[in-house]
Amino acid sequence: MDKVLSISVGEIALKGLNRRYFEDKLISQIKKCLHGLPYKRIYKEQGKIYIEAEGDLEKIINRVKKVFGIVHISPCVRIEKNMEELKKAVVEVAKDKIKENSIKTFKVETNRVDKKFPIKSPEVSRQMGAVILKNIEGLSVDVSKPDLYVYVDIKEYIYVYTDKIKGYGGLPIGTNGKGLLLLSGGIDSPVAGFLMAKRGVEVSAMHFHSYPFTSERAEEKVKSLAKILSIYTGKIRMYSVNILDIQKEINKKCPEDQMTILSRRFMMRIAERVANENNINALITGESLGQVASQTIESLSVTNSSVNMPIFRPLIGLDKTQIIEIAKDIETYETSILPYDDCCTLFLPKHPVTKPKLEVIEESERNLDVEELINKALETMTIHEIE
Ligand code: ATP
Ligand code: MG
Repeated sequence: MDKVLSISVGEIALKGLNRRYFEDKLISQIKKCLHGLPYKRIYKEQGKIYIEAEGDLEKIINRVKKVFGIVHISPCVRIEKNMEELKKAVVEVAKDKIKENSIKTFKVETNRVDKKFPIKSPEVSRQMGAVILKNIEGLSVDVSKPDLYVYVDIKEYIYVYTDKIKGYGGLPIGTNGKGLLLLSGGIDSPVAGFLMAKRGVEVSAMHFHSYPFTSERAEEKVKSLAKILSIYTGKIRMYSVNILDIQKEINKKCPEDQMTILSRRFMMRIAERVANENNINALITGESLGQVASQTIESLSVTNSSVNMPIFRPLIGLDKTQIIEIAKDIETYETSILPYDDCCTLFLPKHPVTKPKLEVIEESERNLDVEELINKALETMTIHEIE
């Protein structure tokens, strides 16, 4: 009896002819995340991926379950296709599980993937149920709501398991192009990056600061956020851009209530420029409809018109409470709420426009040398590799 981990892939299973490509990407992500941990082999068998694990299984599971594309992970006992072996395995697996929980009822569920196996699924389940009843005291069968499922998958080998540990689902990183995340120090943008990465997007990040008005510690905070995010996304290249001069110029030459929307258009343009130079095809923000003045439909469309690249806003329909729930789950929340200054709070207008008109905003921009300001800001851009 060998111990292996089985991995169920969910959505990848729907990929038809492209399935192999997605599975191979997933396997390469799993290998990356297992770096430094002992395992013998990773292989595919009819719809699932298996890891011949060694050593501390819990540690391996904790890492692997953060890989996108995985729906659940099960620690399994793997045996040859033999009914006597199977009887021993189901009893052992069930006993193991019962030790830790108050389990009174169970059900055996068999999946005969190998149709050449001579005994049909219901009959295998029935026989194994009987063996468990005979060997473990105090258990009874409940086919509708059992405390414990004992799963039997019959393939090249037979796999026996009880647990389905949840992964995040989604698609493997790198199967859906590249995106540049506008990463502030707030709660929302790390969550937005996480959600797009979950759809298979390889994420880079860009942060805007107003040093020396914003502190170095504020930038450290953003790096810490990127670091937490990189647990899920793999290494992140983070671009840091100082927009103080741009903000000063807007402040000097444009109406006060347009500060935020004008800054946002600069951020988008700078991000698009860097994205184009680095083969990145989309921008990602943490905007959510109606959350603040710059996130009304009117503001979002005036922001959109500053660039041609698509802007992905995965939080657009989420409430703050839902966003916070995800932030807590992915462990960015505690860092996000540290109280450092953000560049957006500098020159913050008392009454920002909530329904900007594109013509009016463009009129204001005619007071600025947009290209020159962008070029200047890019000259002092710094790049950090975050792992
Ligand atoms: P967050 O919690 O992500 O900071 P927010 O609710 O504070 O978002 P805004 O300040 O309007 O909202 O920012 C909206 C989005 O714009 C952010 O989610 C982020 O993607 C981007 N953004 C804002 N400020 C910055 C910044 N300093 N650097 C990079 N991106 C930024
Ligand atoms: Mg913010």
